[in-house]
Amino acid sequence: MNRRGGWLAPALWILGLAAVALAVTRGGRWALLAAAGGAAFACGLTLPALVRRHARRPGARAVDFSHTIDLLRRAHDAHACWAVGLRDGDVESLGEREVHEDRRRRGAALAQLASVDGRVHVAREPHGTYVAVGDFPYGAGALLALPDAGAEFTDPVAEELRRLVATMRLAELEIPEAQGQVAAKQLALAASGAQTLEGVARAAVELVQHLSQRGAAVVTVEGAGPSVHVVATSSLVDKRLASLTLSPEAAVARAIQTGVAVVTQAGEDVFGPGVPERRRRERAGAAYPLRDGHAVVGALVLIGPALDPDTPAAEQLGGLLSELGPRLAAARAVHEAERRALLDPLTGLRNRREFERVLERYGDDAKTKLEPATLVYADLDRFKGLNDTLGHAAGDAALRHVAGLLQAAVRDGDLVARIGGEEFAVWLPRTPLGEGLEVAERIRRSVEGTAWRWNGAAHAMTISCGVAGFPDPVREIANLRGAADAALYRAKQAGRNRVEKAAAAG
Ligand code: GH3
Ligand code: MG
Ligand code: MG
Repeated sequence: MNRRGGWLAPALWILGLAAVALAVTRGGRWALLAAAGGAAFACGLTLPALVRRHARRPGARAVDFSHTIDLLRRAHDAHACWAVGLRDGDVESLGEREVHEDRRRRGAALAQLASVDGRVHVAREPHGTYVAVGDFPYGAGALLALPDAGAEFTDPVAEELRRLVATMRLAELEIPEAQGQVAAKQLALAASGAQTLEGVARAAVELVQHLSQRGAAVVTVEGAGPSVHVVATSSLVDKRLASLTLSPEAAVARAIQTGVAVVTQAGEDVFGPGVPERRRRERAGAAYPLRDGHAVVGALVLIGPALDPDTPAAEQLGGLLSELGPRLAAARAVHEAERRALLDPLTGLRNRREFERVLERYGDDAKTKLEPATLVYADLDRFKGLNDTLGHAAGDAALRHVAGLLQAAVRDGDLVARIGGEEFAVWLPRTPLGEGLEVAERIRRSVEGTAWRWNGAAHAMTISCGVAGFPDPVREIANLRGAADAALYRAKQAGRNRVEKAAAAG
């Protein structure tokens, strides 16, 4: 039903009910039938809308069919009515007059039978007439008070029962989506503050654990390889799995490659071989692919036996899976754009802009706390010659080689950036000049002493460094770059492959 029909349904519903009430009070078989038709028509139109409206509220039950069949029974002056095959169990409505146990069982059985064979069953018996229709797995039936009701009575009843069955199907079809919507909304809420891939994944695993009462993990695929990484694990999962790279043979990797959920049996670790062994037997589980459109971006892993598809948790999980894929993809796109914005694509080192940003921030902090720091500028010697003789591709490979050496020469928390063609900056916060000079010398020695090979032949390379220390001798962070550059120039002038210290400045 579309939005335009929204007002129509409640109006019909009210009209139908009013007609039934009128017919019940004023009497008259034909009036009753007409009213019943109206009521059932309104039911048929209104129920799907009601289902949706209710289901959007977390925790609301989908539809109470006992009320609907009660209405049907009264409209047709029936002794009893049945609705079978509903997920929450069968429903029965009985009139004021006592209905014998045998007849209740017979009516329910006929509705069951109709639910399986899909045919109309009319049984005319001395105590009344049974009418039942069905559409697997749903069935509905009524026991009319008339002992030998003709087709003119049973046909309209069958028609309304059929409409009821259709409504049952529609209502239950809506439930998974509705429960999924609730879970998806919960995820949206939980992940709303999280901008990062890890943040979104962490919110998801905790929510999944809450819904399913099982440990959960999110893995993503990266690169052309592609490799599969654990991004987040819920609190019930072995912490050592966090940020592991998984084997391509892992069930999780298979789920991602094939786009089909994979369930492992007890004894097969869903995370595959080569992961921490503890409690492996408990790590049978299911891996559900996470999609963004057609692309599989990762998988959600649930530890333990597969969820029963008929449970609310499974339905909620379905909604969550469809919400999580695009969210992860979006977070990853942001993450990668941010990385691109601060990294040099050739070497993977930080770029000039990021280097300058970090230096400026240190400058702001330095105004309050005067922590020493050292800046090293490093420039490859006669690099143009190497580039010209071996070619640009060789030059690029040499730059990557040197980037690796620079990175290896510093500690965590230091920053290595490529700030020009073959020029690098090494920023050493909380490092006095003496130590900074040692780092520069280490860099110089490692470039000189580590063979770089191209097409099987070793090529010599050297680097020159200019080193400037804050606050001694350079008193302002803002002047460090100029001072380091001047020192580098002097190193070149003095014959290259050497380290020069900056003179006092600003
Ligand atoms: P110096 O010892 O005085 O520093 O000599 P140099 O040849 O290294 O100095 P110069 O700055 O004149 O030359 C730098 C050369 O580095 C120019 C270019 O051939 C090369 N180069 C700069 N950027 C890149 C790059 O991104 N890739 C490659 N392959 N080469 C680059
Ligand atoms: Mg150079
Ligand atoms: Mg240069």
